[in-house]
Amino acid sequence: ATRPGAPPWLPPAGAFWAGRWRDGAEAFAVHDPEDGRRLGEVADVTPAEVDAAVRSVAAAVWGGAPWPAWRRREALHRAAELLGERRAELVGLISGEGCKTVREATAEVARAAETLRLSAECTGRLTGETLPFDDTARGAGRLGWYTREPVGVVAAITPFNDPLNLVAHKLGPALAGGNGVVLKPAEATPLTALAFAAVLLDAGVPAGRLAVLPGAGARAGRALVGHPLVDLVSFTGGHRTGAAVARAAGARKTLMELGGNNCVLVLADADPARAARAVVEGAFGVAGQNCLSVQRALVAAESFDDFLAETLAATGRLRVGSKRDPLTDVGPLVSAREAARVGAWVAEAVAGGARVRAGGRREGAFHWPTVLSDVPAGARVTAEEVFGPVLTVGAFGDLDEAVALANATDFGLQAGVFTAGIDTALAVAERLRVGAVMINDSSDFRIDAMPFGGPKRSGVGREGVRYAVEAMTEPKIVAIRRG
Ligand code: NAD
Repeated sequence: ATRPGAPPWLPPAGAFWAGRWRDGAEAFAVHDPEDGRRLGEVADVTPAEVDAAVRSVAAAVWGGAPWPAWRRREALHRAAELLGERRAELVGLISGEGCKTVREATAEVARAAETLRLSAECTGRLTGETLPFDDTARGAGRLGWYTREPVGVVAAITPFNDPLNLVAHKLGPALAGGNGVVLKPAEATPLTALAFAAVLLDAGVPAGRLAVLPGAGARAGRALVGHPLVDLVSFTGGHRTGAAVARAAGARKTLMELGGNNCVLVLADADPARAARAVVEGAFGVAGQNCLSVQRALVAAESFDDFLAETLAATGRLRVGSKRDPLTDVGPLVSAREAARVGAWVAEAVAGGARVRAGGRREGAFHWPTVLSDVPAGARVTAEEVFGPVLTVGAFGDLDEAVALANATDFGLQAGVFTAGIDTALAVAERLRVGAVMINDSSDFRIDAMPFGGPKRSGVGREGVRYAVEAMTEPKIVAIRRG
């Protein structure tokens, strides 16, 4: 994968398993979606190669040298430092192969370092407890405790939209918990994942415990999640893919971070300008390709006109342009195909009566930030996860209607509520069926330490470093029978 003149730490080949970099039997090229520029070539891993890789990681976990917690902590802290030292190359990779602007990629590298530091700190929390065996008559005379043990081999499957930090959210906790991990990164963003593996290896992660297998979801991904030696599947991606992954994983531990269709409620007592600024930032960051993006703004009828005017003004100030321009606010989608899909969904809404208030334009992989009002019920831009730069704006009469509209979705990741009244904010927060409610902010906020995920089709279980480490380890009891 390394080009001539590239820094020496970058991976020399397009896959890694069984302790070394390899090219694999088949390959595919990675392109910049903005201009089609060819960025490199990586392995298109075959099921036989997946099998070899999983076996090698299982052998390292169950039969290799012990990897004590203090060494895991040191390696993860060192990896966080190395991310900082190698930021320039990582920013280049993220903003080349994916959909992020240089500014967004720079922020992502800092976030990923934070995720690794949080992971490192979790090694000291892998505590068990003594068990009161004499609490039952049958247990009397026994002494016992439990420790937290690694689950073993973690299969990690990641999406394209945060090519570094969402990988760090799986590899950091898996390694902190003492596991081995096999990563199948998104087809669009394997170069960042491979570079991240090089960082982890240079930081002291034992080579046998890590494998990175670029390839097609339906082939390499499927072979990985169905492999009998995989102990836990940690998946982030769309809910339809998630359902296929769950079927292939069968009766096995799974963690799933799926989609969102997030809503922000703007109540009559909120400042419409402040709400509009946050909503626009949350709707159009990374061109809407974010599971926390604001997709629906629901506004008290009496504030609707003010909010819409402020929203259109803020949208009008956004600069659409090249990812490489540090002044760009909104870059491309991950492919021209995705931009066309978003365009078709907008056209469908318009055919049903929706009004385009801003944007609506498309060119190659770019889709301009688009604000729609009067969207007909059932249009895909409101009913499904749009995963693109489209914001729908609607009005509500009273709070009951607002909550009912907000909850009228199959997803439940996060929501935002703007109001000056703390009692109202808390009452609304209680009634929203989501994983997190941000008061006086958009849905698009998280810190990497919080339990992350949501009910309904948004996922299974919770990520967030500490919670992922917990899920990736299991209690193991040892009991002594006296005399
Ligand atoms: P996707 O579902 O198309 O792909 C995700 C990953 O799954 C990729 O690596 C892909 O190759 C792999 N895959 C595809 N088919 C597979 C199969 N049959 N078996 C195993 N693996 C398979 O998602 P995407 O388009 O890359 O990412 C966008 C989606 O991810 C959105 O729905 C978004 O909401 C979701 N997402 C969720 C979160 C979260 O934390 N909740 C975060 C980011 C993105």
